[in-house]
Amino acid sequence: AKHNGRDGIIVFNEELCELVQRKLDIERLLHFALEKDEISLVYQPQIDEKNLVVGCEVLVRWHNEKLGFVPPDIFIPIAENTGFIIELGEYILYEAFQTIKEWDTSDLGIKQVSINISMRQLMHQDFLNTIQRAMKKYFRYGCEINIIFEITETSASDDYRSLVRVMNILKRYGITFSMDDFGTGYSSLSYLRELPIEELKIDKSFISQLADVQQASLVKTIVDIAKNLNLTIVAEGVEEEYQREYLQELDCDLYQGYLYSKPIKKEEFENFCRK
Ligand code: C2E
Ligand code: CA
Ligand code: CA
Repeated sequence: AKHNGRDGIIVFNEELCELVQRKLDIERLLHFALEKDEISLVYQPQIDEKNLVVGCEVLVRWHNEKLGFVPPDIFIPIAENTGFIIELGEYILYEAFQTIKEWDTSDLGIKQVSINISMRQLMHQDFLNTIQRAMKKYFRYGCEINIIFEITETSASDDYRSLVRVMNILKRYGITFSMDDFGTGYSSLSYLRELPIEELKIDKSFISQLADVQQASLVKTIVDIAKNLNLTIVAEGVEEEYQREYLQELDCDLYQGYLYSKPIKKEEFENFCRK
């Protein structure tokens, strides 16, 4: 083992090098993830105030033989930067729609399914065509399950009017919108009022700090605003019983988090619904 400061610096450089190398590996290997069948979907239950399962959020997973599991927090931003998110997002969409179609004709009682859509994907020129094709393929005869697109306010969108236009067209296909990660990014109050959204998700970073009085009153304010705007309120990252209790006092509509279930495989989620 090396002990002196000089070697410490060398070790640090090696670590830094490894980090940079890993990011390069991720970028390179992500590109083949679809053709190598390394991408899969998991589903995290959403629960209502009576403790019934109403649906789930679809979350992507990537397992690579060299890198192991890479978290979406890491590879989604990379995919957004390289443009690979278009291909990846389309794959996720088709997979999710296929599953929703199966659930729609089942007796599982699933009411809604939420899919994360990157801003870059939503605003891509082919997106509306992709949706149209997918709708035709899977829901030619309609769909009882409410399909929700979760969007995040990345920047005070440079093309705000096109965004509203695209969202309104998608609404005509029966898709509704949820504002994800509310309170973390640039999402502003005027956005909430002007965008055609039906649901608001309180970010897990707020929920995890509910023990703090100031944070708790901030969450109450967010809930009040959402109620004023008639939005369905989803609390994400609910891990503890006291969090659920407080959120229930505020009259949140839906709950999602490890307290109920982690994101799970399709068959596991189906069993979860049957319980
Ligand atoms: P998100 O949309 O805010 O998703 C919620 C994240 O919180 C998920 O992480 C979920 O596994 C995690 N989570 C749920 N309950 C709890 C809890 O009780 N405690 C804690 N600590 N975490 C909880 P995940 O699956 O790693 O996804 C991370 C982010 O990656 C997502 O954040 C979303 O921004 C992005 N992402 C995931 N799947 C997709 C996808 O299919 N498409 C796109 N565009 N982005 C995705
Ligand atoms: Ca989400
Ligand atoms: Ca979040």
